[in-house]
Amino acid sequence: MTITHHPADDTLLRHATGALNAGLALVVEAHLTGCPQCRARVAGFEALGGALMEAEKLEPLAPAAFAEVLARLDEPPPVTTAPHVPRRAMLHLPPGMKLPDVLAGCDIGRWLWFGPGVRYSQVRLPWAPEANVMLLRVAANRGVVTHSHALHELTQILHGGYSDCTGSYGPGDMAEGDELLLHQPRADAEGCLCLAALEGGLRLGGWLGRLQRRLGQ
Ligand SMILES: [Zn+2]
Repeated sequence: MTITHHPADDTLLRHATGALNAGLALVVEAHLTGCPQCRARVAGFEALGGALMEAEKLEPLAPAAFAEVLARLDEPPPVTTAPHVPRRAMLHLPPGMKLPDVLAGCDIGRWLWFGPGVRYSQVRLPWAPEANVMLLRVAANRGVVTHSHALHELTQILHGGYSDCTGSYGPGDMAEGDELLLHQPRADAEGCLCLAALEGGLRLGGWLGRLQRRLGQ
């Protein structure tokens, strides 16, 4: 697998510092699993962050705060809830393909119609229910309607690939979109299956966009 498209340094830095929302962080994790180059970048940012914290002088704990810490040690441990059992729809996937391990704790819905030749499955993160994450499957040689993004979108290609005005993307690649990018991706001959997370929603062009606006979404 040759990876040619990586997350921007800014995205990796935000991931290393925990500043990405949970959905975007999940998609970055899916990329890192298969990309030693980006793993090394993130490790570098983390080491730098650790060194900076180390260099800061730690304020001595005030007596009142010290007493509070001691009191908290006497408190009973918090009640632990039963672990979440993920709900997984039986998704029809391309032969030989399996979903990334980072989705192991997520609820995954069935394929839903999104447009001609396009299906999506909602991915719910039990630890961040507000996250906007989906699996997207586009049939061979099909296009996705022209759209732009309100803020930030990360798309990790899991199978097949697509091309748009910014280049061609294959398995292991990550594409980043923002409000400045208006694009119309077209799947290659194998089709395309990807994991995407959005921050701030999607603005669709064409008839689907008009429908979206009429529905007030
Ligand atoms: Zn990478």
